[in-house]
Amino acid sequence: MKIGPIIQKRGASLSFEFFPPKDKAGEDKLIEHAMKLRELKPTFVSLTYGAGGSTQNNTKDLILHLKQKAGMVAMPHLTCINQSMDELKAILEDYKRLGIKNVLALRGDPPKGTERTTPGKNGRCHAKDLVRLASSMSGFSIGVAVYPEGHPESPSLEMDTLYTKEKIDAGADFAITQMFFDNRYFYELLERTGKAGIKIPIIPGIMPINDIVKIKNFAQSCGATMPESIIRRFDKTGSIAGDAVEIGTKVAIEQCADLLGHGVRYFHFYTLNRSEQVLRIVTELGLQNLGK
Ligand code: FAD
Repeated sequence: MKIGPIIQKRGASLSFEFFPPKDKAGEDKLIEHAMKLRELKPTFVSLTYGAGGSTQNNTKDLILHLKQKAGMVAMPHLTCINQSMDELKAILEDYKRLGIKNVLALRGDPPKGTERTTPGKNGRCHAKDLVRLASSMSGFSIGVAVYPEGHPESPSLEMDTLYTKEKIDAGADFAITQMFFDNRYFYELLERTGKAGIKIPIIPGIMPINDIVKIKNFAQSCGATMPESIIRRFDKTGSIAGDAVEIGTKVAIEQCADLLGHGVRYFHFYTLNRSEQVLRIVTELGLQNLGK
């Protein structure tokens, strides 16, 4: 199944993102949680990729497991930074041979401690080059990342929109957002991209808070604002106690309810390889009806 055309036609989707764990125990846990989330009949699941190829084999093996053994539409992420176009082409050819029809095409960030703008081995390092490559090979539905608050390196929201349009025009047919915690940023993104003539589905990426300190730091590193009003809700519970997870789940339920109220019918959850919170959020709001 090709994600872009299908979700555009249906006007709805439900999806879950996982990351490749470092060891076998983590992989077993991931598969256990993915199987629980399969009950919600997601439209697709996705698996992240370590920029520069550090998780190349894990990403592929897990994608194949989720596709072949769990019967889910599984989309690998792929980044172009620090990999040559020939290497990327070989990876995409391999995916094509294995029946993978979707890819999330990203630039990626260079490893910590190296220059943020380190070019790839081929001297190119923008997602649009990877979109162009995947598009030229035909057979892929291609997703890209978009940023409700603008990408941290973008000089302005106007330039961010321009570059976003360029990578979509290169052949992407759906987009997934960076996490955000104030829905106004998402509505403003829809307005900006709409004005720029971008018509593909833009799927909000929802990050349920399971540990406020960790997620706040993570959000900061991605350029996503964590509103004070949300942080204050954890004042009495501390970071990760049961009550804190409960508050985090409620925050996400309220966020998704507001999105639903504004007519949003696409939802992508950053699961952090867990299932409990996402199961609660999805079932409480009936989002499983959007998946299939
Ligand atoms: P690009 O679209 O290339 O943009 C990067 C920067 O370059 C932006 O500031 C953009 O405005 C600017 N730019 C674009 N074109 C030009 C141009 N022609 N001239 C000058 N500037 C330009 N990272 C991983 O390593 N692995 C993952 O699996 C992964 N998954 C992600 C999934 C989602 C949904 C999201 C939102 C992000 C994910 N990331 C992942 C993080 C992502 O790689 C980083 O945010 C990275 O910094 C930018 O990637 P991009 O694809 O948006 O890059």
